[in-house]
Amino acid sequence: MYNIAVVGCGVVGITSALAIQNRVKKCTVTIYAHEVSPNTTTDIAGGLWEPYLLQETPEEKVAEWSKTTYDYLLRLWIQGKAGDAGICLQPVTTATDNENYQRPNWLDSTLGHTMMSEGDLMMLSKRYGTELVGGVTFMSFMWEGATLLPFLQKEFIDNGGNIVMKYIEDIEELSGYDVVVNCTGLGANKLMGDTNVKPIRGQIIKVRAPWIFHSFLIDSEKSGYVLGNKNFVILGGTRQHDDSTKVDDDDKNNILRNCSKLVPSIKSAEIIEHQVGLRPARNKVRLEAEIKRNGDNEVRIVHNYGHGGAGITLSVGCAEEAAKLVEQMLTEKYKSKL
Ligand SMILES: Cc1cc2nc3c(=O)[nH]c(=O)nc-3n(C[C@H](O)[C@H](O)[C@H](O)COP(=O)(O)OP(=O)(O)OC[C@H]3O[C@@H](n4cnc5c(N)ncnc54)[C@H](O)[C@@H]3O)c2cc1C
Repeated sequence: MYNIAVVGCGVVGITSALAIQNRVKKCTVTIYAHEVSPNTTTDIAGGLWEPYLLQETPEEKVAEWSKTTYDYLLRLWIQGKAGDAGICLQPVTTATDNENYQRPNWLDSTLGHTMMSEGDLMMLSKRYGTELVGGVTFMSFMWEGATLLPFLQKEFIDNGGNIVMKYIEDIEELSGYDVVVNCTGLGANKLMGDTNVKPIRGQIIKVRAPWIFHSFLIDSEKSGYVLGNKNFVILGGTRQHDDSTKVDDDDKNNILRNCSKLVPSIKSAEIIEHQVGLRPARNKVRLEAEIKRNGDNEVRIVHNYGHGGAGITLSVGCAEEAAKLVEQMLTEKYKSKL
């Protein structure tokens, strides 16, 4: 029996743990986490499937990983599990003021899309008060962070997995495991000393507005989004290079003003909660294997972190690749006994 440890129980950790259970025969998987749902960054995310804030992560990898997630969500939706899993299928309009806007290649993975016409852009620009130059309406999924985590955790535990609440100070604490999968998000900065991992602050407002069935996202200096979900609507948002998790009053007012321009009925929505989360940003997603040696001690690690503003979007694709890397490391360690 192979023993695998996964550090982290946000969307990246739990999907990786499940992918390993599904791929590697005869293994036990233990998750070590400092925090679990409802206290992770994932719990704050609206869960829009759309690659966002991924810096230099290669476009073809983003398209591949996000497609795997989209296909997985579509499968759950077809199996009738959308309610339990926290999935909503709906049209999403996203527009930008970026002059260099190009049709994103990940649109090919979706169930359908329509590029915005000049007329559409003019109308939305006028309403929003920003000159928008490109955009698209596409069919996408919301996969609500706070619902997906308990749903996937149950599947993991039903499959025989274990979750241990523990802060890992040093990855060598886990050297007894065959492979350790590092899904610590922002925590990788401390755990691995990776200074490329930096927070991008996101403040949001959760409101009750059950009449919203179409989501919007404006990617500009005055960014704003309205994401309809199963249990609430998320209004956002900020993207600041800042690590403050305090709710800021100016941000609150800007979010309400911008989102009311997108969907005027937001003004009458009941506010449930203001929240701040720190996106685990990195110059690019780190998904690779490493053998860390310290004298006679060695730890085989698969890193899977740094998913910025798209951890939910990329999760299932990255998890499957991480599970393949785990399998390769086991094969190398035990010389093809798998
Ligand atoms: C406001 C906001 C809105 C967002 N909206 C979206 C969206 O619409 N769509 C989308 O795809 N993404 C969105 N994101 C981004 C998404 O939330 C993240 O990319 C994603 O949650 C990252 O998941 P993760 O599992 O890597 O990190 P986390 O959810 O932060 O989980 C990290 C885990 O690692 C654990 N950990 C860390 N260090 C240690 C340690 N040393 N020892 C033990 N455990 C440790 C933590 O306790 C936790 O369990 C949003 C983010 C924010 C803040």
